[in-house]
Amino acid sequence: VWDNCLLFIQDNIAPEAYKTWFQPIKPVKLTDNALHLQVPSRFFYEWLEEHYIDLLKTALTKELGSDAKLIYAIRMENPAKGMEAFTEKIPSSKRNFTESQNVDAPVKTKSPELKNPFIIPGIRNVQVESQLNPSYNFDSFLEGESNRLARNAGMAVANKPGGTSFNPLLIFGGVGLGKTHLAHAIGVGIKENYPDKTVLYISAERFIQQYTESIRKNTRNDFIHFYQLIDVLIVDDIQFFSGKAGTQDVFFHIFNHLHQNGKQVILTSDKKPVDMQDIEQRLLSRFKWGLSAELNHPDYETRVSIIQNKLYRDGVEMDDNIVHYLAENIKTNIRELEGAIISLIAHSSFNRKDITIDLARKIVENYVKNTKREVSIDQIQKVVSDYFQMDIDTLQSKTRKRHIVQARQLAMYFAKKMTKASLASIGSQIGKRDHATVLHACKTVENLASTDKQFNKYVQDLQKKLAD
Ligand code: ADP
Ligand code: MG
Repeated sequence: VWDNCLLFIQDNIAPEAYKTWFQPIKPVKLTDNALHLQVPSRFFYEWLEEHYIDLLKTALTKELGSDAKLIYAIRMENPAKGMEAFTEKIPSSKRNFTESQNVDAPVKTKSPELKNPFIIPGIRNVQVESQLNPSYNFDSFLEGESNRLARNAGMAVANKPGGTSFNPLLIFGGVGLGKTHLAHAIGVGIKENYPDKTVLYISAERFIQQYTESIRKNTRNDFIHFYQLIDVLIVDDIQFFSGKAGTQDVFFHIFNHLHQNGKQVILTSDKKPVDMQDIEQRLLSRFKWGLSAELNHPDYETRVSIIQNKLYRDGVEMDDNIVHYLAENIKTNIRELEGAIISLIAHSSFNRKDITIDLARKIVENYVKNTKREVSIDQIQKVVSDYFQMDIDTLQSKTRKRHIVQARQLAMYFAKKMTKASLASIGSQIGKRDHATVLHACKTVENLASTDKQFNKYVQDLQKKLAD
């Protein structure tokens, strides 16, 4: 059909114009009387609509009859291009896989009924690519204590989008705990259950970019209009909305419209609503309408199953000891856990060595050291004083009671060991002592730990608590 259209078009316009505007178009599919075309950019699409719509219409009507439809899918212009000048900047380090794909959510940019009198209303509509990653589904999202509520709420939403009280569903939790994965899984689930629903996954950063662009192009209303047509809207990492008043305002309108019409909204954030900063109160209160479900740090069992599952999917065998070693030592972030497995596999295959516990130890050491946040001296004092069941004031006091002195010395020892603070700075923070006192404390702890069994147990226990 498209080839015939092209022949007709070619006969009716200049060869240059044909080459520029029609050769790059890719026919995608034909369903009933709707021809799906992929065009390279939004600008391209606008140009076609402005200049060639009646030619297209005539060609299409000839081929498919008078109720022919044209559906555009728009490939994206490079999102990085031309973004530098914008006021709302996006840190490029925060991109994840969807941003690197070269497919944009097509945005309806014009209201052709008004701007272009040649178009018969209904001749075209805009198809929405859902931007979902099919491998991020519920099957690959393992259930554990840490994610049970969020995962089950997600499944309920996938079964009945817009039809549960979980609207919006807000998933929150720290980095690498599965927010993006779960958000996709819900979208993928909805697409399976309701293929006709329009689902759109978008990162908050892309949303902000699109919004900023719509301001520049003076198409803010069309931007809002496009989002209001969606049945299920998934916005990932909405903490990036903070401090962006324009984006928040536009999102507020979109949200209200969708919610009022029973459409499902799914949001993720690295903070719970009360801790979100620079987000307008009226938005925060909307977020609380539905359910906020937390993704917690995975427990040991879940970590083991996630590792085993990953190995299984990658077809790699690994000794149980090593699996347990990894699960024991990488606790706070599933992405890091996966990263450690990948580098373990890479190291062993590059060096043609088996995966041994020694290799695992080496990798985990690098991993944990490089990625771990430094504990603060305050946290150390808290952990030590909790452990000895005293308060921090007591720990810092001038008393010479033996057990208090020991607790104080332990706090100093761990502060020296686990932070980059100088002896003087440690001393001043732990009860205004001088650097010599701290040095003495460190030596005392080392001596006692090697001679006094009970004391050594304190050191070990505290070490464990502080490593968590
Ligand atoms: P976040 O968006 O919270 O930073 P991601 O969704 O990107 O985290 O998850 C990080 C990695 O951990 C991904 O590769 C994801 O597939 C994996 N992951 C997270 N949670 C689970 C889970 N419950 N089961 C299996 N893999 C998981
Ligand atoms: Mg994420």
